[in-house]
Amino acid sequence: MKFEGIVLSEIDYKEASKIVNLYTEKGKIGVKALGSKKIKNGLLGFTTTGNTVSFVTTDKEVYTLIEYDIIDSIMKHDLDINEMKGLGVILYIINIIPADSPHDKIYPFVKDIISNIKNINIDKLLSIFLIKMLYPFGISPNLKSCVKCQNNHDLIAFDIAYGGALCKNCIDKNNNIEIWNEYYYGKKNLKDYSDTDFSILLNQIKNYYSYHLNIRLKL
Ligand SMILES: [Zn+2]
Repeated sequence: MKFEGIVLSEIDYKEASKIVNLYTEKGKIGVKALGSKKIKNGLLGFTTTGNTVSFVTTDKEVYTLIEYDIIDSIMKHDLDINEMKGLGVILYIINIIPADSPHDKIYPFVKDIISNIKNINIDKLLSIFLIKMLYPFGISPNLKSCVKCQNNHDLIAFDIAYGGALCKNCIDKNNNIEIWNEYYYGKKNLKDYSDTDFSILLNQIKNYYSYHLNIRLKL
């Protein structure tokens, strides 16, 4: 079988072998990587968390690695401590993504996010990722009308507890509704996303994940 995937985690398996969990267009899969000399360049590239790899396995139910190539090496990005933390959050969310999610759509998005980890401010990249990922977790924030009065104009704020937009009559302080709309519905290219105060936005996202999904993000 031919796959492409992002390395999520690895555990030791017998002597000199590993079971590697990867995220692919078909969702999460586990691949047995035997510490065999047959695999040129060794296993490091295939077992490094955050790497994007293409690989060939046996067709059997328990996939066993035959060969692989590195598409995107996380080592080469030379991440700083914040970027490492950000990558940790991204991989954590992918690890707990519901099995019935549209992985064929999510996988290329995640790959794009990780490959841009050095090109885009990490707080911005995390915000784009985390708001977008609410969808596979079954959360659709009401962004098109006021969650209190159903007004569909003058929407100026985003309310965590209500899970959506508030109009100017229902709230007195301005906040981030435009950004939530833009990030949730998405842009074609990562470079097209607007900037905002990411410390405020990430705090909202953290609260949103905690309140609606009971997921505590280490942001
Ligand atoms: Zn209202």
